[in-house]
Amino acid sequence: MSLVVQKFGGSSVADAESVKRVAKRIASYRKAGHDVVVVVSAMGDQTDDLIDLAQQVSPVPPPRELDMLLTAGERISMAVLAMAIANLGESAQSFTGSQAGVITDESHGKARIIDVTPGRIQSALDDGHVAIVAGFQGVSQTTKNITTLGRGGSDTTAVALAAALNADVCEIYSDVDGVFTADPRIVPTARKIHKIGYEEMMEMAASGAKILMLRCVEYARRSGVPIHVRSSFSTHTGTWVTDGEIPAPFRTDTTEEEDTVEQPIISGVAHDRSEAKLTIVGVPDVPGKAAEIFSLIAEQEINIDMIVQNISTRDPGRTDISFTLPMADGAKAIESLEARKDTIEFDHLRYDDQIGKLSVVGDGMRSNPGVTAALFRALSAENVNIDLISTSEIRISVVTRAEDLDRAVQAAHGAYGLDSEDNEAVVYGGTGR
Ligand code: ASP
Ligand code: MG
Repeated sequence: MSLVVQKFGGSSVADAESVKRVAKRIASYRKAGHDVVVVVSAMGDQTDDLIDLAQQVSPVPPPRELDMLLTAGERISMAVLAMAIANLGESAQSFTGSQAGVITDESHGKARIIDVTPGRIQSALDDGHVAIVAGFQGVSQTTKNITTLGRGGSDTTAVALAAALNADVCEIYSDVDGVFTADPRIVPTARKIHKIGYEEMMEMAASGAKILMLRCVEYARRSGVPIHVRSSFSTHTGTWVTDGEIPAPFRTDTTEEEDTVEQPIISGVAHDRSEAKLTIVGVPDVPGKAAEIFSLIAEQEINIDMIVQNISTRDPGRTDISFTLPMADGAKAIESLEARKDTIEFDHLRYDDQIGKLSVVGDGMRSNPGVTAALFRALSAENVNIDLISTSEIRISVVTRAEDLDRAVQAAHGAYGLDSEDNEAVVYGGTGR
């Protein structure tokens, strides 16, 4: 008998009809003899609606109370889903994150899971129930307050539970059929990826592919849980994220067939519109300045990505340092740097939030020279100007103007031969909010 953890995102449980459809799928797994643990997100855009509500009563809601409010979304969907399953003659019990043993640190809004003690979930399974768990939430070990894991955090809940329960697979259901070689909304000819390794998936997630949260893939890699990303609107095989084989009980004719297809050099093209570029102009070119600047940024808990330092042509002895950061952290970064302007001794700041980031990810890059040149040729043919460039062993990222990003993604996708003949990418639902 196998244990399956299934996670359903907001668009899969957006209304009563969708909840009933999901309940049917869960019941069919029970009938096939699997033990099932389900992790749910809030229905539809409810989390956003709750954030809007909070903002109407307070411009800066206290983080503890905001977390308390937001976790209500998942509590609604878990109870409603349990009822729908009961209505199909299977028994289900719902649990909050705290009841399910999801223990986190004490930070609100982006808490980290530090332990999972799923005793109650295990007993529910032993007693023959489907266990339904509210995603995206936990309880702090020290303060005992209710915490949330950050937007999209239900994926991490699912993988963490799968790891703690030693599940055979963690199925992540959303409104597309899997991980695609590019966002099908931009590249209609994008292809579904059959299987992808953890490291490549992490690079895709870090580069803006929204289908899986980065932290969830990191967690899966550490614990070795195979993830199957698929649609709750179809029964198609989705994308397997694993470094190993697809687990035997889940192999089908399609997976066998696709396993024989040769792995491409490039897995996919990701893009990100949520970053901005900050340039610190006229920093004294002496040891210690970068340390000073980036320590300050780190203290603000801002994740930076690309960094470029250039000797200023006008003023020898000075350099310009540019880096990319989440647009949402732009104001915070500017404020903290301005406050230290005199100690760092820079001239001024330049902020640009009209940028886009494109990343090409593929394990085959390690052993295939020319991958970078091919990207630059494709962008040049489209007359797309490149601003910043960074590379890792399996990723090349470039920053372009925001308005050029879609064309750049399409060009790169075509250049690596990733376009499929038939439009297989279907976006079933969701508002993409
Ligand atoms: N409901 C939360 C959100 O919208 C968590 C999740 O969807 O995973 O971010
Ligand atoms: Mg959601």
